[in-house]
Amino acid sequence: MGKFAVPVSNRCVFHPDANATGRCKKCGNSICDACKMQTGIGVFCGIQCAEEAEKFQDKVSSAMPVYQSKIGCGGMIKGLISLIGLLGVFYAIMFVIYDLTDPMEMVQTLIDQIKKLINVMT
Ligand SMILES: [Zn+2]
Ligand SMILES: [Zn+2]
Repeated sequence: MGKFAVPVSNRCVFHPDANATGRCKKCGNSICDACKMQTGIGVFCGIQCAEEAEKFQDKVSSAMPVYQSKIGCGGMIKGLISLIGLLGVFYAIMFVIYDLTDPMEMVQTLIDQIKKLINVMT
């Protein structure tokens, strides 16, 4: 005794004599090096906490895609895909008609064509 300067929370919950060096990610228990269970998703006080946290992590990650599609991410992706599709069609047309492979040249050609068209109309 006589070591009251060290707060209780800084001691391992399993070893009152050992200084805690970490905290369980699941239950928040202070743990020493000997009790630490290092896993891919964090440090835990035991296999039970690690397994529970892993189950929770699985639930969160499996719920994520559903949540994302609910907030309109699916619509955005659909729009992006159709935009890429349009670009692909444009690229194909320019390749067939003007025999171009460079996107910058294609855009330049398109602008020239539009300018010519405007000149013809006005
Ligand atoms: Zn724990
Ligand atoms: Zn310990």
